[in-house]
Amino acid sequence: MTDRGIERATPLVLVVDDDLNTRILVRECLEQAGFGVEEAGDGEKGMSLFEEMHPDIVLLDVVMPRVDGFDACAGIRNLEGGGTVPILMMTGLDDEDSINRAYEVGATDFTSKPVNWVILPHRVRYLLRASRAIGELRRAYEELKSLDKAKDAFLSSVSHELRTPLTSIRSFSDILLTYHDTDPEEQREFLEIIKSESERLTRLIDNILDIAKIEGQKMIWKDDFFRLEEVVRDAARVQDPLLAEKGIRLRIAIPADLPALHADRDRIQQVVTNLLNNAFKFSPAGGTIRIWAETLRGKRSGEPCAWVKVSVSDQGVGIEEKDFEVIFDRLSQVCSDVMTDKPGGTGLGLPISREIVTHYGGNIWVESRKGEGSTFFFTLPITPESLKTNNISASTTEPTQNEQKKDRACGG
Ligand code: ADP
Repeated sequence: MTDRGIERATPLVLVVDDDLNTRILVRECLEQAGFGVEEAGDGEKGMSLFEEMHPDIVLLDVVMPRVDGFDACAGIRNLEGGGTVPILMMTGLDDEDSINRAYEVGATDFTSKPVNWVILPHRVRYLLRASRAIGELRRAYEELKSLDKAKDAFLSSVSHELRTPLTSIRSFSDILLTYHDTDPEEQREFLEIIKSESERLTRLIDNILDIAKIEGQKMIWKDDFFRLEEVVRDAARVQDPLLAEKGIRLRIAIPADLPALHADRDRIQQVVTNLLNNAFKFSPAGGTIRIWAETLRGKRSGEPCAWVKVSVSDQGVGIEEKDFEVIFDRLSQVCSDVMTDKPGGTGLGLPISREIVTHYGGNIWVESRKGEGSTFFFTLPITPESLKTNNISASTTEPTQNEQKKDRACGG
């Protein structure tokens, strides 16, 4: 691939030489070695062909009429994509001045004339390989630089999020310590704030530690068999008082014959809790949240597989399509400022849920319409052990999704 992202089956070499015989011989030699060849008879034509064809490498003669090889080399370096293309200059043997100048004007390497036809294809191949490797390094460096920037933004946002609850804890404790005659009702209110802010702080720290543990592969996964229904009931129990307060109905539909799952129960409960909690936060008073599960069968890498798909829907504010992926990415979430729940949320719930689900080979995604509610889905593959213990083939319903969705749900 060239620097401008052009993908070619055979690398294209641009040969710039005023001597027709040399061009014919170079073409023959390189085409036999599997390269594509374009020719130019002087530096000026060479530069315009470079702009037109975007070759992968340039072979440049030094002495040419009008624009010579040195000027052509310097010119190509200033063209779009010319800064990184390998340029091999063909100089006279022992012509030290030309060799020095070639490097000065930006040549990658030189080969001496008369050309050694055995070595030339190896030379070209080597330069192409080296330039590809440098290109990959450059891209990796750019990626690291932008990740580093995103990490800085994440760290500064996290420190800000840590500071906010700490500031209110400190201020309200100061008031309580300084003013002993505060009204008991008010005292209680301040203590409630201190408590809820401390809980928020704990949640935030727990989330940061979880992300660090998962990303550093230090998470200890305590896998065991469990029933999804129990996990959903436990997660729902925690939400019950909140739901009642806002008049939100929660409808749960988990088939009794759903196969047991084999994973870390607490982590899966963390995913379900997060989805339920978000559904609650973004739901209008009196709305309905639904959570249901189904067993699906399909193929993954050509092999039959089965998985459980869990869906959580709400009638809340909804999410714009452009943010469907952003909300699962902790770095872009902070940078793009998509979090609508600042400062209450941590913006880490969905990224952590994705880490957990993908750890088990599943998938998590959202479908939503702004203003009309959202449905979050996650899938977990059913392990062969589960299949044995559950006799899943008897209980499975045929998937209703199309092949593409099946593949996605299966983690493929
Ligand atoms: P938080 O702890 O802040 O809720 P999450 O990672 O769980 O962090 O969610 C990140 C963001 O995704 C939220 O701030 C919100 O913008 C959006 N979001 C998540 N769930 C929903 C939902 N059910 N409805 C609307 N927006 C949602």
